[in-house]
Amino acid sequence: MTRETIYRELGIDADVFAFGKKVEAELEDRFRTIDETAEYNQLKVISAMHACRVSEACLTGTTGYGYNDLGRDTLEQVFAKTFHTEAALVRPLIACGTHALAIALFGNLRPGDELLSVSGKPYDTLEEVIGIRPSRGSLAEYGVTYSQVELLPDGSFDLPAIKSAITDRTKLVAIQRSKGYETRKTLSVEQIGEAVACVKSVRPDIICMVDNCYGEFVERIEPGDVGADMTVGSLIKNPGGGLAPIGGYIAGTKECVENASFRLTCPGLGSEVGPSLTLNPSFYQGFFLAPVVTASALKGAVFAANIFERLGFPVFPDGQEERYDIIEAVTLGSPEGVVAFCQGIQKAAPVDSFVTPEPWDMPGYEDPVVMAAGAFVSGSSIELSADGPIRPPYTVYFQGGLTWPSAKLGILTALQCMKDKGLLTLPE
Ligand SMILES: *Cc1c(COP(=O)(O)O)cnc(C)c1O
Repeated sequence: MTRETIYRELGIDADVFAFGKKVEAELEDRFRTIDETAEYNQLKVISAMHACRVSEACLTGTTGYGYNDLGRDTLEQVFAKTFHTEAALVRPLIACGTHALAIALFGNLRPGDELLSVSGKPYDTLEEVIGIRPSRGSLAEYGVTYSQVELLPDGSFDLPAIKSAITDRTKLVAIQRSKGYETRKTLSVEQIGEAVACVKSVRPDIICMVDNCYGEFVERIEPGDVGADMTVGSLIKNPGGGLAPIGGYIAGTKECVENASFRLTCPGLGSEVGPSLTLNPSFYQGFFLAPVVTASALKGAVFAANIFERLGFPVFPDGQEERYDIIEAVTLGSPEGVVAFCQGIQKAAPVDSFVTPEPWDMPGYEDPVVMAAGAFVSGSSIELSADGPIRPPYTVYFQGGLTWPSAKLGILTALQCMKDKGLLTLPE
């Protein structure tokens, strides 16, 4: 059986297969660069594992209070070493990325302090943590004020505006690396370094925190390499490598990480308690795999950008641009397009492939949203997934793919579903 026949059995017709093959052939150089970055980052992780003397004993876990959890403590050193920071907190008790960011903020801010976001509006779920949208238990309720500096129209930092927004009360500056679901550009680590240097030139004691979600291992450097005091993310995105079933991390200075630990558990206990349960093997192995898994997701994003760009759909980032995160936005121009795309992604998933996603009124969203996710870990977005609100201009956000062939199948199936519904025509 040839590759083409097995695609045929999976519902991909000859035209879609041929178009995919043509586009893929043109991406050889891009893919080689992605593989080289994965190789670099893979070696970085292995070196950290060597330096921290990861042993078989680290793969066992603790229960109860989790005192002297060798696997947990060593894993935290591995994260710190990989991200070039003094310390790290990597825990299954951190429920998600938002929780990690919340404890980083609550642990390091005190009443009367001001939090300053210098990359515009933060990720949706942080609005309630900060109290931008009034919310019970927010930082605002504890007397922490908030201000924000917008990015410039070209997506770069407004350094003069950042300087003048800093006051005596500014305690922590927040920077979000990935665009998330905004239409701005994702910031490179180098750009983030310029913003950190700018903040530190005004007052070196201001804590610079980077929301690193979706950015880990996309580049060769991470925010800790350019002076960030805290780098924060989720283990069900890039650094969990698809294996971590829960968790989040904070890597940074010893003081900032300790402060966060007193919020995660409580004052006095900090990082001394909190068992790793049975999760150490998946945390270690997931982190080990993460550079290559991230590369697969990146190839999927680049492939999707080039496929849909060639068919005349606006894509963001475009097919040629340097990438700093794994999210690809494709504007399909119609509700039917968004639904068909998501149905295609679902159809190609390893889990729940027989399910047909339909738009629904999700709590907290103004418009119906359609989502495709057939993941081993519920809600994991390092796994192949897509979602789009049913509103103009009908943009679908696509990310993940634990392996490149599975990401490719997802994109070809999305293409096929749209073609079958007459929503696109392939070039001759
Ligand atoms: C996903 C994400 C978060 C929040 O992570 P959750 O795990 O969904 O809570 C925060 N910031 C950005 C940029 C993200 O992409």
